[in-house]
Amino acid sequence: MLTLQCPYCGVQAEETELAPGGEAHLKRFGPGSSDEEFEGYLFNRKNPKGVHFERWRHAYGCGKWFLTARCTNTLEVFGTYPAQTTEPPADLLAKIKEKRPGWEGWK
Ligand SMILES: [Zn+2]
Repeated sequence: MLTLQCPYCGVQAEETELAPGGEAHLKRFGPGSSDEEFEGYLFNRKNPKGVHFERWRHAYGCGKWFLTARCTNTLEVFGTYPAQTTEPPADLLAKIKEKRPGWEGWK
């Protein structure tokens, strides 16, 4: 079972306490953007086999949104961090690169 540590309340939350929110760090496009940009924002997601950055909500806990870096293949969790972060913390990226030397980065 997937367990994630909520960065706000510190609880090691099991998957049943959490609600998924899809891919993290999406660049939003709205009025004034091209049709291709808006279509990409609405429909295109990475969905990798491997390291993925995701949004989760501690639905049956503190209720707050947070972000997670985890492996979609092994369910290994590299870390969690607050949802207000615009890009993954440098120490988390270093930790992932140490564990997955061939990993190409988060963008
Ligand atoms: Zn929480």
